[in-house]
Amino acid sequence: IDAEEFRKHAHEMVDFIADYYRDIESFPVRSQVSPGYLKTLLPPAAPEDPEALEDVFADIQSKIIPGVTHWQSPNFFGYYPSNSSTAGFLGEMLSAGLNIVGFSWITSPAATELETIVLDWLAKLLKLPDEFLFGGNGGGVIQGTASEAVAVVLLAARTRAISENKRKGLAEAEILSKLAVYTSDQTHSCLQKGCAIAGIPLENLVIVPTDSSTNYAVSPAAMRQALEDGVKQGLLPFFLCGTVGTTSSSAVDPLSALGDIAKDFGMWFHVDAAYAGSACICPEFRHHLDGVEKADSFNMNAHKWLLTNFDCSALWVKVNHLVSALSTTPEYLRNKASDLNQVVDYKDWQIPLGRRFRSLKLWFVMRMNGASGLRSYIRNHVRLAKRFEGFVREDPRFQLLVPRTFGLICFRLKPESDDPDNGRTLNLTLLEAVNSSGRMFITHTVLSGVYTLRMAIGGPLTQDKHVDAAWKLIQEEATTLLR
Ligand code: PLP
Repeated sequence: IDAEEFRKHAHEMVDFIADYYRDIESFPVRSQVSPGYLKTLLPPAAPEDPEALEDVFADIQSKIIPGVTHWQSPNFFGYYPSNSSTAGFLGEMLSAGLNIVGFSWITSPAATELETIVLDWLAKLLKLPDEFLFGGNGGGVIQGTASEAVAVVLLAARTRAISENKRKGLAEAEILSKLAVYTSDQTHSCLQKGCAIAGIPLENLVIVPTDSSTNYAVSPAAMRQALEDGVKQGLLPFFLCGTVGTTSSSAVDPLSALGDIAKDFGMWFHVDAAYAGSACICPEFRHHLDGVEKADSFNMNAHKWLLTNFDCSALWVKVNHLVSALSTTPEYLRNKASDLNQVVDYKDWQIPLGRRFRSLKLWFVMRMNGASGLRSYIRNHVRLAKRFEGFVREDPRFQLLVPRTFGLICFRLKPESDDPDNGRTLNLTLLEAVNSSGRMFITHTVLSGVYTLRMAIGGPLTQDKHVDAAWKLIQEEATTLLR
């Protein structure tokens, strides 16, 4: 990198990004391109000779931006939010600038040590039990995504379960065919992927059904029954996953009861709070984590709803079984600090070796907002979500499908009572109408067979006027549809 050339180009890029945020509302929220659009616009091979940055910028404007769905638009209400902020961006920029690869402490002591400190800070904001903090046997680590967090704890739990069962005299092959994972039908599909990675046969992933009677939280009685049945069939249950804020509807599993069940069956208990964990920094939401003290591990995504640019998924473990499952020490990575066991080497807490300096962005976010700023940020979205929920409630053509807990509203346009597909086509058409307008973006799920619209409020730029305009558009499209 030539410092002066970098300074010039990076300033141009910052200007470009600043203009993007200034103009973000002028773009259609969901990209309106068709599959394969870019192949027709770009040459089939890389250029032989260097090109000027201005030519690249011209292509970004004319060819790339049209194919971008604007997740940072204040009118983006799909999936769950994926936040950005000036603080998060600055941390990300510094991380890219330093471009270290911090797999072991020695490779950049600040990267490891800052990560341990900011994860302790965040654990304290969430009022996690002290066992999840550094100083005891546990601690936190930043993974790229919740999927990686779940995969690594599953691998750690599997390693522990294999050695426990071997001690009881079982052969490894038998153990491997019988190890079983228990969860609910609302758990994110990343657990299924984790099982594939960990070599858990799909038939040993036991999925307990939920329904509207518990607002899609898993019933402890049903979970216990499933476990008793599994043990009778010869399964070896070793991993129980609960969720705080399920992906479809933000359901909150009864952590305390699940923790007791996991203990009774000698299982690892993991809590996935990828989305809703952020809300639990507010005292009024913290009770949703009651019972987390019984968990072996806990994850939440700061990149979803805590102003930290993607990716930043925080994972805490009480006892560090990750290291026993994932540690490797080839000669070429050995060093004095690691050999003397004086340091954390995060390579042993994750799947890849290499890792970025991701703690910088979380540190910037916590320092530049303060805990009070972060709490107000969450509260404002919850206020907006309540506002939208009120709009739905007031219009008799619509229906709320589950009570709102955080920033997600699950609703639909009510179908006629004799509608052959119970409102699926009606709501699918409504969803497509609002999304193809480019003025807003929402997504859907299915709850008890009912096609459900999801309005997830949590974008850093979203204000009352955006929520109001979104509702107005939904109402207008509904009127057109019902005409
Ligand atoms: N867990 C929950 C509860 C989620 O809502 C999501 C995504 O929305 C995930 C896991 C997967 O997240 P990631 O993209 O970080 O793997």
